[in-house]
Amino acid sequence: MKLILSFIVIYIMKWCFILSISLLYSCNTSSSKRQYINMEKNTTPPTVIKTEAEWKQILDAESFRILRQSETEYPHTGKYNNFFQKGKYYCKGCQSYLFSSDTKFNSSCGWPSFYDVQKDAVRYVQDFSHGMQRVEVRCANCDGHLGHVFEDGPLDKTGLRFCINSAALEFSPIE
Ligand SMILES: [Zn+2]
Repeated sequence: MKLILSFIVIYIMKWCFILSISLLYSCNTSSSKRQYINMEKNTTPPTVIKTEAEWKQILDAESFRILRQSETEYPHTGKYNNFFQKGKYYCKGCQSYLFSSDTKFNSSCGWPSFYDVQKDAVRYVQDFSHGMQRVEVRCANCDGHLGHVFEDGPLDKTGLRFCINSAALEFSPIE
């Protein structure tokens, strides 16, 4: 009888162990993908809509090339790359608040890097250009191309790296 009981106990313990491991794994998976799940939910259409000629009037050539033609500035050339003042980063096209300097970090990748973004400030598009699979980051308000987001950011934060073109941003210092 004792033998049967101990077999039952071992059997239950084994399944508890398997269950806890699988729960732990699913928690890790969902937390690392949490940001991406939120990303896909932002389907609100942009509210700032202008013609190409109108954008050319309000943007300099480099910002137009990036925001409206989805180009990328050369690495290590942008004015906010090695820039760590306290303040807020706005979309250069529509002045929507996008990133806080509190989430900016030195990734050494050659572009301004942030580990988080203001809620619902951007939307995400699968980008298969240049033979790569990346997630493009666009301003939710004006649909301007900002950069890309990668999953190699600081692990003690969100684990994300928003790799953003300086020319798509406008910095405003905290007074
Ligand atoms: Zn914008």
